[in-house]
Amino acid sequence: MHYRQTRAEISSSAIQHNAKWVRRKMTGGRLLGVVKADGYGHGVAPAAQALEPLVDGMAAGFMEEALAVRESGYSGPLVILEGCFSSAELTLCCEHQLSPVVHCEQQLQYIEQAHLNVPLWVWLKVDTGMHRLGWSHEQAQQALNRLQSSKNVAGVTLMSHLANADAQHRLNADQKQLFCQLSDTLNGYQARSFHNSAGLLNPDTQWPLNDNDWVRSGLLLYGINPSTVTEVQSQLQPAMRLVAPVIALHQLEKGESVGYGSGWSADKPSVVATVAMGYADGYPRQAINGTPAMVRGQQVGLAGRVSMDMLTIDVTGIDNVQIGDDVELWGPNIDVRQVAACADTISWHLLTGVSGRVPRVSV
Ligand SMILES: *Cc1c(COP(=O)(O)O)cnc(C)c1O
Repeated sequence: MHYRQTRAEISSSAIQHNAKWVRRKMTGGRLLGVVKADGYGHGVAPAAQALEPLVDGMAAGFMEEALAVRESGYSGPLVILEGCFSSAELTLCCEHQLSPVVHCEQQLQYIEQAHLNVPLWVWLKVDTGMHRLGWSHEQAQQALNRLQSSKNVAGVTLMSHLANADAQHRLNADQKQLFCQLSDTLNGYQARSFHNSAGLLNPDTQWPLNDNDWVRSGLLLYGINPSTVTEVQSQLQPAMRLVAPVIALHQLEKGESVGYGSGWSADKPSVVATVAMGYADGYPRQAINGTPAMVRGQQVGLAGRVSMDMLTIDVTGIDNVQIGDDVELWGPNIDVRQVAACADTISWHLLTGVSGRVPRVSV
């Protein structure tokens, strides 16, 4: 039972629509559905269950998340993007058929020294310019040789990650060139993976995908265009609709202000609605006045500072707004990318930040 109407509506059919869309964008290759961070905030089980028939594998961030994906019933290929933090985790990888990323010397040693019942498929991460995780291009062949000679390794996918896929940046072409050169010259791997959602869409990082290529897609599957390079948002269906009710209405005289710090003042007689959604629910406190929301089918703007459990919107001139009306904070009608821009952040951050006290309701 939920007494508060505040909720995140999650649409499995939207996730499936988006997965099919991503598949159509791929000229070939295999699709790895990224369900880390509780399925980007949508709930790992609903996300994994929606994606299961449409992807060739899935990816979690770390062991706990991978086990949650298994608990949801998924039994296909499952990659752990940060790899293992201890040798004990390799036993779990065997038990649950998980593919860890190997991005550093320590993780390679765990593999070399393990006594495993079944050899594992591993993903070797090379650093092509992001400098966050991965082996340098000089170290890559040696690492591959060591993996190849380990009885604990069944096969290797060569991977790298883009630092600027969502923008136009000179490093995109550099990273692509280095990865292609590496995949041409290195021996001892069977598959490769370079593209995230934005990388798939960015002309500077694309190539004709073949059977050996895995695309690692997250944000696109949840219906949000990660790219500033292409305009594809209208073809996607946002899978989360964040909704909260109006719980109070106030008439303000010209010059009166609302909320903490009196952050918004009426420049004419106004009506302000208080909505049961605050930063403790994951709505960004940094959101500025005018950040869009929707009530009664009309776009309105945030008025005043977001507080812990509530926010206020200017509904002046909107007919018939009543206590109990649903307000969409983001979703099919209010672009989460716009809300993110108004809060100086990105849509990945907002989706994954919806807190545990907001019920996920499937629609
Ligand atoms: C999260 C993640 C992805 C998915 O990124 P999107 O931008 O959401 O498509 C791909 N690869 C790695 C290594 C990741 O950590």
